[in-house]
Amino acid sequence: MGEEHAKKRIAIFGSTGSIGTQALEVIKAYPDLLEVEILTAQTKDDLLIAQALEFRPNAVVIGDEKKYEKVKAALASTDIKVFCGEEALEEAADFDTYDIMLAAIVGFAGLKPTLKAVSKGKMIALANKETLVVAGDIVMKMALEKRAPIIPVDSEHSAIFQCLVGESRNPIEKIILTASGGPFLGKKPNFLVNVKRDHALQHPNWSMGAKITIDSATLMNKGLEMIEAKWLFNLRPEQIEVVIHPQSVIHSMVQFEDGSIKAQMGLPDMKLPIQYALGFPERMQNDYPRLNFRKYPALNFEEPDYKTFRNLGLATEALQRGGNMACILNAANEIAVWAFLKNRIGFLDITAVVEKAMENISFIEKPTLQEYFDSDGEARNFAASLMKL
Ligand code: NAD
Ligand code: MG
Repeated sequence: MGEEHAKKRIAIFGSTGSIGTQALEVIKAYPDLLEVEILTAQTKDDLLIAQALEFRPNAVVIGDEKKYEKVKAALASTDIKVFCGEEALEEAADFDTYDIMLAAIVGFAGLKPTLKAVSKGKMIALANKETLVVAGDIVMKMALEKRAPIIPVDSEHSAIFQCLVGESRNPIEKIILTASGGPFLGKKPNFLVNVKRDHALQHPNWSMGAKITIDSATLMNKGLEMIEAKWLFNLRPEQIEVVIHPQSVIHSMVQFEDGSIKAQMGLPDMKLPIQYALGFPERMQNDYPRLNFRKYPALNFEEPDYKTFRNLGLATEALQRGGNMACILNAANEIAVWAFLKNRIGFLDITAVVEKAMENISFIEKPTLQEYFDSDGEARNFAASLMKL
């Protein structure tokens, strides 16, 4: 944090999304501690304009170049700088004028700007899990070299991070990632084969962007989170366990070498991990509803159904094989989820496409950044041709 600044200056990459808009609510609640420096959006120009007029950042980026003139005109009477296009995202990430990047873009598109911020030694509040899934080795190595702290926003990883505060000398025996199970918990393939987009978009406990909501229904989200956890906490695959916990009040757990387990709990509300990351290392007071144990007389835990939700197995395989395998898995999944959202393929086809991509794209043991980009492109093309898109 720049010493002359009393407030932390936040750059929200992906400010119009589920995480981005909730982050703005958090920032609004702490006007003496937090301020907005940069906002970016891909297509939602009206929302970006409204956010900019309210929060008065130094700069905004609209990804979709066709919307540049409109955003520019709407903000003409202010001194807010307006940029557009993919490259402008990286240029904005290169600014010196912010303290924390909230990486809240969805998917592979978040990788480049986040990597730029890491290369500048910025603090990253990381929601964009795909960044670590695709190129976790490169991102974490650079974060170490540049002393860029990465504070997880994903609720499970925030939970683990919070459990580890004060434990730096104590090795982790394992972590236990909790999963709600999503809207199709207990269902079998004969049911899932007919599932449509609108049903899959109904998550029982969390309201999130479309892509992660589908990932939660297929359990790919938990698979991506296993890989994210590996990189964040430097774990071996066998140290990462997944348990289904339908109430979503234990956000995840850490087991230490003496067998003691710490859990972080709270109501399912993404504002909590967002605010923890932006306030870190301090906890900031709020008046959100509190978890009342009397309303949760039973907390349940069960083994995931690996036979039905095969994405978990595919993600485990990617975790174990390393190299570009998780990058391939992620790219194929992004395309397949997009196709499912457009009603072009069925629910179970998502897994089939990911599996085929993992079988067909050449494996690279130790990819360079360019090779990650190439593998991503190859896997996307392969998945698209498989689905005849
Ligand atoms: P969302 O779809 O609601 O929002 C995505 C944001 O990214 C939008 O602001 C959009 O404009 C921007 N964006 C989309 N495509 C882009 C592109 N190609 N280039 C630049 N910007 C682009 O997504 P979300 O649910 O807020 O999720 C964001 C990230 O946070 C994801 O990686 C997700 O896995 C992670 N996450 C979300 C939640 C949640 O509760 N929503 C929880 C944990 C982790
Ligand atoms: Mg999560």
